[in-house]
Amino acid sequence: LNHLKNVDPEVYSAISKEFKRQEEHLEMIASENYTSQAVMEAQGSVLTNKYAEGLPHKRYYGGCEYVDIVEELAIERLKKLFGAEHANVQPHSGSQANQAVFFSQLQPGDTILGMRLDHGGHLTHGAKVNISGIVFNSVQYGLNPKTELIDYDEVYRLAKEYKPKMIVAGASAYSRVIDFAKFREIADEVGALLMVDMAHYAGLIAGGVYPNPVPYAQFVTSTTHKTLRGPRGGVILCKSEYAKDIDKWVFPRLQGGPLMHVIAAKAVAFGEALTEDFKKYAEQVVKNARALAEELMAEGLRIVSGGTDSHMMLVDLRPLNVKGNQAEEALGKANITVNKNAIPFDPEKPTVTSGIRLGTAALTTRGMKENDMRRIAKNIVKVLKNLDNEKVIQEVKDDVLSLCSSYPLYPNWFKDYGY
Ligand code: PLP
Repeated sequence: LNHLKNVDPEVYSAISKEFKRQEEHLEMIASENYTSQAVMEAQGSVLTNKYAEGLPHKRYYGGCEYVDIVEELAIERLKKLFGAEHANVQPHSGSQANQAVFFSQLQPGDTILGMRLDHGGHLTHGAKVNISGIVFNSVQYGLNPKTELIDYDEVYRLAKEYKPKMIVAGASAYSRVIDFAKFREIADEVGALLMVDMAHYAGLIAGGVYPNPVPYAQFVTSTTHKTLRGPRGGVILCKSEYAKDIDKWVFPRLQGGPLMHVIAAKAVAFGEALTEDFKKYAEQVVKNARALAEELMAEGLRIVSGGTDSHMMLVDLRPLNVKGNQAEEALGKANITVNKNAIPFDPEKPTVTSGIRLGTAALTTRGMKENDMRRIAKNIVKVLKNLDNEKVIQEVKDDVLSLCSSYPLYPNWFKDYGY
């Protein structure tokens, strides 16, 4: 990073510190991951210089012959990965992918039915503070209080009552398998379109360890940076009949020039996700999540819904009389990065919460396995039982540092970042 270091030592210094933070912390935020160096090389390439409004071979700028290759590779690989009829790889983010789908099919004031944010849904699925809940008439379903699983009877009841034009399945804090066939059945019954936002599960789906929504939904959106392990960004998959609508809503209606360097990085990540190694990775992510959940339960914590089928889990901290914000802060001091998260029917405010959300996607990328998860679970509980005990927190931090050093992140980049 010599150029950066010389030209802008302040930015270099901050990036360098972030590099060290990533190296020395256990990254357990369920929506994060570590991309490969190949993905970062593509993203840090000359493609950042290029304008390419339009689609491959139909651009509004000259000089697009090479970025066309890149975008076509991304599209073809993505379609192959999920068995989709059409793909648009240009959305700058998951939120923009969702907006493009909504606006391509709905008019302001139309009804959408999505999952409640405080039960694990995403902001963009109709939350009141988001454009999806401002522009559209948003009705929300949630979890069954006993099972803490999606209440499909409620989805059905609300669908019958409100006749939404679109039903949204998918979540940000739901660890179990979502029954996409059931959602399709309900959507068909009331004449609604089905959109699945698979952002969290995309890598698991690509790896064959979580059900694929593509056969069931007219539209499937995703981010590319979570379990799928690509650069930050979004994508849309849809049936061919909606291809033109979707493409037109991404550009020119919502976005301008596509980020070709990010699309190149997406192409690389999709190529990686097509490999046998990625299948093994996805399997290990789920095995690790199960091992982590089991050990946390053995240590006296409650896991929402009693376990996990994916890369993530919600931990109910009430058995230890700890709040989510306290846990996030204390674990942070021990170099374990997590986020506080509301649990279903949480009595606490969203800024406090009774839970934390944990994910295993990033740690699995580092090469960690079930034994490491059990060690981490024990460390987490040790911190939670000793929130104000600096000595214990330091002990855990030392153990975390030793664990991290056994799984170096980007070893051959170390010296570039000044270490
Ligand atoms: N959809 C789901 C299910 C998500 O969890 C997220 C991100 O947290 C998004 C969409 C939004 O993605 P982005 O942050 O890229 O806008």
